Amino acid sequence: MVRVRFAPSPTGYLHIGGLRTALYNYLFARHTGGTFILRIEDTDRTRIVPDAMENLIHTLQKLDITFDEGPIIGGNYGPYIQSERLDLYKKEAQKLLDAGFAYRCFCTPETLAQMRAEQQAKGEFVKYDRRCLNLTPAEIEAKLAKGEPYVLRLKMPETRTFRFNDIIRGEVEMDSAQSDDQVLIKSDGYPTYHLASVVDDHYMDISYVIRGEEWLSSMPKHLWLYECFGWTPPQWVHLPLILNPDRTKLSKRMNDVAVEDYLERGYLKEAIINFVALLGWHSADNREIFSLEELCQEFTLERVNKSGAIFDLNKLNWMNGWYLRNLPLDTIVERSKPYFEKEHLAIPDSDKLTKIVATARERCTLLSDLVQYSKMFLCPQQLSTESLDFLKKEDSRKVLSWFQSHLPSGGDIDAEQLNQLVQQGIKDLGFKGKAFYKPLYLALLHQDHGPELPAIFSILGLKEVHHRIQEVLEL
Ligand code: GLU
Repeated sequence: MVRVRFAPSPTGYLHIGGLRTALYNYLFARHTGGTFILRIEDTDRTRIVPDAMENLIHTLQKLDITFDEGPIIGGNYGPYIQSERLDLYKKEAQKLLDAGFAYRCFCTPETLAQMRAEQQAKGEFVKYDRRCLNLTPAEIEAKLAKGEPYVLRLKMPETRTFRFNDIIRGEVEMDSAQSDDQVLIKSDGYPTYHLASVVDDHYMDISYVIRGEEWLSSMPKHLWLYECFGWTPPQWVHLPLILNPDRTKLSKRMNDVAVEDYLERGYLKEAIINFVALLGWHSADNREIFSLEELCQEFTLERVNKSGAIFDLNKLNWMNGWYLRNLPLDTIVERSKPYFEKEHLAIPDSDKLTKIVATARERCTLLSDLVQYSKMFLCPQQLSTESLDFLKKEDSRKVLSWFQSHLPSGGDIDAEQLNQLVQQGIKDLGFKGKAFYKPLYLALLHQDHGPELPAIFSILGLKEVHHRIQEVLEL
């Protein structure tokens, strides 16, 4: 039975990298009929941000990523928030202490800083020098009696090669010499990530740990913990790094990586999911467009790459444009509404909005662009002096007057009729190209470009067309 977890620390917003981890866990669970668990790793009390957990859950919900077990929804393996599981970590840490796999360290932050500085000065690998391992039981008792704060450290084997199979990387070998005696319980009584995640993965029956490559270097500690406890480790899957196009590590600047921000800016959930799914995974036939459902069917860990995945914003933009044009029109119309509100623009009536969106989505990338595009219809900008001068010219006025007198005064005009009318106008006036179209565009949209005339006429309606032409003629 596949059981996987997404285990974020609630330190703020959901990062693109976090979404990729959540998504791959989710897809793997759905593909295998397994269980997807959300576990909140909030044991680093200094990094907690209020409401971060709620925001994170909310953002994932917006993207249709659903959990089977977790905070709020519950499950048989709860609680799912680590700060509510402290007794368990204490109990397990005590077992390690009793068995001699862990020891108390009373060193103060100052002592540790000095130790680090000395090791750095000598060019040595920085790690705890184990001075507290030499304390006698009596010395320890005395310190405890005095109430001296201490941490619990894992006693790492000095020379050990850890071998494990990573589903993406195959056989991996790592030496314990590069591993510090990891703090397991901090002086505030909270466990560190390493202890808490190993204990939880065990007690939550996690069968596959799927997480970012940055955790690969912690593997000796984690494997050693499994060994000390006498537990069977899960299967390991370390996802490739996400890189900027210049192959540097993905920017940490918040508006570049916060998923919420992409949603705010007008990216569609379908595009975000599709794009993020391809950050390190490809389908058998290298197809690019996938719905979430299709991803659930197609996703396998075997096709996740080892090498870093490039975060290419141009590709995300291309994909968003594709979804903007290819999702049902009604869907895009609905999704565009909040962006009108954000711009403090009254949402046009449903018929007009649908016409605008149908035209605009062929030419836009983001939901928010639809609103910018619609402004020429809803609230055209002031005519520039240059445009005003142009419109006051005799030839411009001729075009507009001709239209005013030849356009039906009410009802509709379809594309075919309009095109005939335009041809007739060009013939009657003997104008061509720009001289004919420019006055019309300027009068109707207050700019010299826009969609084809039939779209403009259909969106504005004949009444508004007359009105806008009349306004210019009265200048
Ligand atoms: N809390 C860790 C993080 O924020 C989770 C790492 C893991 O999945 O083991 O990335």
